[in-house]
This record gives sequence, C-alpha cells and structure tokens, in this order.
Amino acid sequence: MKKLLKNILKGVGIYHPLQSFYRGGIGAAINLYYRISYAKYQGSGYECNFCFARYERFVPHHPEKAIENAITKNDVIAGFGKNVYCPSCMSKNRERLVLAVLQNKVLVDGKKVLHFSPEKHLFQFISKKSNVTTVDIMPGFYQSIDKNILQEDATKLSFAPETFDIIIANHILEHIPEDTIAMREMHRVLKAGGFAILQVPYSEKLDNTIEEPWINDPARQEKLYGQRDHVRIYALKDYVERLKTSGFTVNVLKADTLKEYLKYGTQERECVFLCTKK
Ligand SMILES: [Zn+2]
Repeated sequence: MKKLLKNILKGVGIYHPLQSFYRGGIGAAINLYYRISYAKYQGSGYECNFCFARYERFVPHHPEKAIENAITKNDVIAGFGKNVYCPSCMSKNRERLVLAVLQNKVLVDGKKVLHFSPEKHLFQFISKKSNVTTVDIMPGFYQSIDKNILQEDATKLSFAPETFDIIIANHILEHIPEDTIAMREMHRVLKAGGFAILQVPYSEKLDNTIEEPWINDPARQEKLYGQRDHVRIYALKDYVERLKTSGFTVNVLKADTLKEYLKYGTQERECVFLCTKK
C-alpha cells in the first residue's frame, strides 16, 4: 500500500516535492529542539561560520549500529563526529568546512557556480555573491532550498563546455555508479582556470576503493558503505587518481593546513579536494 501510494505520487510528479516539504518541517522541529536544549551550552568554544552562533559544543552525530562496521572498520572520514550540527542553524560540519574554504582560500564573488544537490546554508551564501545554478538528478528533493533547481544527470550534463567558474559537489560522487564519467563531465563544463570542490567520504586506511557500482540493494549498501544510497567507499589515493585521470589538477588541502577551521567544528582529519582545470 505504501509502495503503491509512493508510485502514484511519483507518477503525478509530487513525491519528491512533498518529501522536500516534509523534510523541511521535520528539520525545523529538530532545529527548535536543539536551540532549546543547547541554550545552556551557549558561549565560547565553537563558532558557526554561517550563523555566527557560539557554543561550547555542537550537536554530535555518530554512526548508528547498522553502519558502525562500515565506517569504523574502514576508518572512513564521512561527516560524523562530536560537533556536527550547529544547534542554532543546523548547518553540518562538512558544509562549514566548504564555507571556510570559499571564504578564505578562493574567490567566489561574481563567479558562475554549479552547485550539485545544494545544501541550504551553502546555497544561501553562494547565491548572495555569485550566479548559481543548482542541479540534482531528483531536483524535487531540493525545491524547498532552490525552486529553480534543474534536473541534471551528472554523467550527461546538458551544459556547454567551459560554462562555470566554480563547481561544488559536496558528497555526491560516492552515489554515482559511473563516477569517472561524472568527473569528466564536471571537468568539461568547468572553465579553464576554474576550480571544483569535490568532497566525498574516504578512507586513508584502504588500499583500494571498495565498490559495487551497480549495486541496488539499500540494506547491503548500508552495511558495506555506511549509507543506503552509496555505491562505494573511496580509498584516498584512488580517489585522487580518478580525479587526475579525469583531467583535474588536484590540490589536496591536508587537515593540518585546515586547523584554523576547527573552531567551526570541522572534522579533525578531513582534507579538502580542490580540483582545478588548466
Ligand atoms: Zn549555525
């Protein structure tokens, strides 16, 4: 019955917009809860670079039992930790890290930006400064963030070569079976001299990426890769190699060069993959 209803809603094209609306409402309720319950932690310690709220601690997010093995056994840097969500605006650590890089390491103002599966806070920041095009394969999920979002398949982008100055794809490629085709497409639509921030969950411990690109078994995907819609866990070296093979010059900003951003509750060991096109 549930499946039938889902298919009917999908058939008339309102399933994903409804889900987006639902998630927005649930998100607001959770945000209110944390604002109240974390009020006692307001003060020095961590600062949100989106909303400037300061707390002794942010909201933790640790792997649930079902995915603990995939994440901890493979030592995956994936967005978990003690200080993940800002209690005030619910931005995530991985968004705050990208924001810190956009504010301090690169120029965003006046640029043409392609933002995949846009995160609310990042989108709001970028759209104030730049001309942003947002895209997703299921754009309905993101309509509450950007009503103008376009439907695009990352492996077959409809844009002309050299269209964008900047591409942001924050935890996207681990979902895509043909990830190297998507990388090459991103490289194609990026202008020479432009850059892409292409974050993914990755492991420094693994020698090889573990993957089954065409897997379609959410329960197994959760067990193997830590999320029901992931198709791999990248080995760090392999990920960088795939980006290079796709045409990018890859500048891995190592965690020790990002220490100044730890005050934003970013992950201690997370690197930033700053990819440029010559
Ligand atoms: Zn915040």
